[in-house]
Amino acid sequence: MTSVNMQTLAGEKMALSSSDVERFESSLKGDVIRSSDTAYDESRSIWNGMIDRKPSLIARCKDRDDVVAAVNFSRKHNLMTSIRSGGHHVAGKSICDEGLVIDLTQMNSVEVDPDKHIARVQGGAKLGDLDEATSPYNLIAPIGVVSETGVAGLTLHGGFGWNSRKHGLASDNLISVEIVTADGKVIRASNSENSDLFWALRGGGGNFGVATEFEFRLHPIESEVWLLFTIYPLSEAKKCMEYFRDNIQDTPEEFGIIEVFWSAPDADFIPEEYRGEPVLVSLGCFTGDPDEGEKVIAPFRKIAEPIADLSEKMPFKEIQKVLDEDFPNGRHYYWKSVYINEVNDNIIERITEHAKKRPSPLSSVDVWALGGKVNRVDPESTAFYQRNAPYMIGIEANWNDPDDSEANIQWARDIHDEFKNDLDAGLYLNFPGFAEEGEEMLAKTYGPNYRRLKDIKTKYDPDNFFRGFMNLSGNGSK
Ligand SMILES: Cc1cc2nc3c(=O)[nH]c(=O)nc-3n(C[C@H](O)[C@H](O)[C@H](O)COP(=O)(O)OP(=O)(O)OC[C@H]3O[C@@H](n4cnc5c(N)ncnc54)[C@H](O)[C@@H]3O)c2cc1C
Repeated sequence: MTSVNMQTLAGEKMALSSSDVERFESSLKGDVIRSSDTAYDESRSIWNGMIDRKPSLIARCKDRDDVVAAVNFSRKHNLMTSIRSGGHHVAGKSICDEGLVIDLTQMNSVEVDPDKHIARVQGGAKLGDLDEATSPYNLIAPIGVVSETGVAGLTLHGGFGWNSRKHGLASDNLISVEIVTADGKVIRASNSENSDLFWALRGGGGNFGVATEFEFRLHPIESEVWLLFTIYPLSEAKKCMEYFRDNIQDTPEEFGIIEVFWSAPDADFIPEEYRGEPVLVSLGCFTGDPDEGEKVIAPFRKIAEPIADLSEKMPFKEIQKVLDEDFPNGRHYYWKSVYINEVNDNIIERITEHAKKRPSPLSSVDVWALGGKVNRVDPESTAFYQRNAPYMIGIEANWNDPDDSEANIQWARDIHDEFKNDLDAGLYLNFPGFAEEGEEMLAKTYGPNYRRLKDIKTKYDPDNFFRGFMNLSGNGSK
C-alpha cells in the first residue's frame, strides 16, 4: 500500500507511511477509511451538500479508547484533525480537507437511569437516539426539534428546543461531560471536577477536546403531548404574528413555538391552490400536561382561517420526527441567525417581504420565542452568554441546484445584515452560516465571557489542536 498524503496542523503537506496507518488501524476496535475505500464517499458526506471536503483518513471510533488512540495518533504526526458527531452543523467543519476525521457516528448509545432522571449519552448520538431511550420512562432531555441532529454539536454550542423556556438550553441541563483532551487524557468536567472546563463546554463548542459522553438531567413528560402545526396563508401572517407577539410571553413556559415563514407542501391535505405557495406555519409543542396544552395551543390554531391544521396529541419522540423529512442529507443549506429584541409591526412587515423574495420555496424565515429559563440563568455562569433576547430569527436557505447557491446565500446574508444591529448580540453558533465574520462576531456572541473562554482554551489546548468550528485560538473561523 502507498503512503497517505496528509496536511499538518501548520498547513504543510506530509506523507504518512502505510505501515503507520495500518498500525493505527489495528489499535482500534473501529476502522480507518482511506480515499481508496468504497465507504469513503459515504463516510465523508455530511448533512450539508454544499460541503465537499476530502479528508485523507476517517477514524470510525467504536468507543472512548478508540478516540484516545485517534487523538494520540493525530498528535504524534501533527495532523489536521476534525471531530464529527451528527455531521449536521451547517458550516461542515466536522470534515477537514486532507486531515484525519475523528468520527463518532458509531458511538451513539444512551443509558438512562430512570430513578435519578439522568441520561448518559455517547458523543456521536443523535437527538432521536436520546428521545428513543428516554421515552419508555416518560422522561425527556431538553434538546433541539429535529431528531436527526447531533447531540454533541447542538449541546456544546447551546441548544434551543421545544422546552427551552421551561428548562433552559440543552447545555444548561448537563451534569457532566467526559472529554478526551489534546494530550490524550480522559477527564470529566462537571461543577465539582475541572469546573472551568465545564463552564467553557457549555457554549464554547468543540475547542477543548472530543466529548465522548454527555450526562444530562432529564425531566418528566406525559406519554403524549400536544404538537401545534397550523398552516395559514401568508396574507394572514400579520394577524398571526401580532397574536404571537402579544401573547407568547404570557403562555406557560412548557410551550415552545416557532413561527415559520415557509411554503405549503405539495400534499393531499393542502387545497390545490395553496400547494407550493408562501405560508406561515405556527409550529409548537406543549411539553406539559396535555389537557392544559390543548387549551394553550387552541387560540394559536384559530387566529385566522387555516389552510390546514395538523395539530395533534402524540408521543414527544414522534413530534421530534415531524420535520426530519424536510431537511434531507445532501441538499444545499446555508443557515444563519440573528437575535432580536421585539416583534414590532415594522419587523413583521420586513420579514414577510423577505419571505416573499425567497429564491427557493424550500427556504424559510423562522421566528423563535426564547426567554423563560434561558433568560433566568446568569449569563456569566456558563460560556453561553446571549440569554436576554426574547426572540431569534433563524434564516434557513435550503435549495437543490448548486447553480442557485449564490442567490440563496445572498438572500440569507441580506436578512442577517438587515437585522444584526437590532441587538448587536452576535450569532447563535448553531445557526452561524459559514462564520464569515470571524473574531468580531465571536466577541459579540460571547460578550464578557470571551476573554475567559480564550484563557480556558489556552489551558486545555495550548497548541490549538482542536480547530473545528469557531476556533477560539485563531481568528474565529480558521
Ligand atoms: C435539521 C437540523 C435541525 C436543527 N435543529 C436545531 C434545533 O432545534 N435547535 C438548535 O439549537 N440547533 C438546531 N440545529 C443546529 C444544530 O444544533 C447544529 O448544527 C449542531 O452543531 C449539530 O451538531 P452535530 O453533532 O451534528 O455537529 P457536527 O456537524 O458533527 O460537528 C460540528 C462541530 O461541533 C464540534 N463537535 C461535534 N461533535 C463534537 C464532540 N463529540 N466533541 C467535541 N466537539 C464536537 C466540532 O467543532 C465540529 O466541527 C439543527 C440543525 C439541523 C441540520
